[in-house]
Amino acid sequence: MSNTATNTSSKTTGVPLLDLKRQYLTIKEDLDRAVLNVLDHGKFILGPEVAELEKQIAEYTGCEFACGVNSGTDALLLSLRASGVGSGDEVITTDFSFFATAGVIWRLGAKPVLVDIEPDTFNIDPNLIAAAITSKTKAIIPVHLFGQMADMEPIMKIAQERNLKVVEDGAQTIGSTYKDKKCGSMGNFGCFSFFPSKNLGCLGDGGIIVCSDEEDAAMLKILRVHGSKPKYYHRLVGYNSRLATIQAASILVKLPHLRKWSETRIANAKYYDNRFAESSVKSPLVKDYTTFHIYNQYTVMVENRDEVRDKLKERGIGCEIYYPVPFHNQECFEYLGHKKDEFPNTNKTCASVLSIPIFPELTEAEREVVANIVLEICG
Ligand SMILES: *Cc1c(COP(=O)(O)O)cnc(C)c1O
Repeated sequence: MSNTATNTSSKTTGVPLLDLKRQYLTIKEDLDRAVLNVLDHGKFILGPEVAELEKQIAEYTGCEFACGVNSGTDALLLSLRASGVGSGDEVITTDFSFFATAGVIWRLGAKPVLVDIEPDTFNIDPNLIAAAITSKTKAIIPVHLFGQMADMEPIMKIAQERNLKVVEDGAQTIGSTYKDKKCGSMGNFGCFSFFPSKNLGCLGDGGIIVCSDEEDAAMLKILRVHGSKPKYYHRLVGYNSRLATIQAASILVKLPHLRKWSETRIANAKYYDNRFAESSVKSPLVKDYTTFHIYNQYTVMVENRDEVRDKLKERGIGCEIYYPVPFHNQECFEYLGHKKDEFPNTNKTCASVLSIPIFPELTEAEREVVANIVLEICG
């Protein structure tokens, strides 16, 4: 995710990493109508489309409740708050993710306790979690990176044994499954982002939380309106984190297409897997437990990665490094006191990952060009 760019179309005649305009053109009539309808009824904040979306996303993920919020970041923030995380607490998470995952822990005055990833899935290594738990640990945030879920069964087992909350960061992974359990439905909270470049993206910022506990759901809905219930009475201090109606309306138009879009991403991934099979390019591993991978990214591991990236860009092939710097080497987390070479799997991964075009509207000719050029460069 380039979290600054909403349309990463390449300026050259090459292949873009993502082209949102193409998706828009396939649903233009429905999307335009849905947006105009909101302009017409004028209920711009928490309007009827938000309630309808909450109903549909709860159903889609197999959860009882959903709460629309104004970003995936806030989905994490509010879920941690509703989990009781506050000043002085510790929250365990992966060393390898988009910044928001660790940022929200810090913002609550809690300490991000980082754990290395598995060598081959980009996701947190469940075997390393137990050793990271202390008397201050309140919650675990497993991140489901690039469209494949983390190994949730062992994570849930530890959490239940040690009485910890689990907040799933599914910002990149809505609709994926773990042994047929939907992303977001296994932890106490499931968090999703509707940032435009995600698989299910809106027209600006947006996000949603799913859960199946009635009290948790009620707390989320209080937290997103400054902690007020009833209006103007505050037992606690919350946030301004309401989902805009126009954003919900746009997601309602896109949700029925998500399955088909994901299947096209899977087909693109299979094509790349085959093309790269005999080469030095390492395709992303799909675990046996993954019964549906939504490929938010197709992320390969290559040698001399920066050089490969530069050459691809020269040839007009969109690509991006998600993510170049692990949390433990971010300047703002220096105070955690980690050594640079700690977390060897994350370090190795950050040095070799490269994401290439996988979006559903990619043409067969384009993906062939991408594979050809990648193979030409990497051998
Ligand atoms: C995008 C993303 C977020 C944050 O979502 P926003 O809607 O951009 O706030 C959090 N975690 C991960 C893993 C993400 O990819």
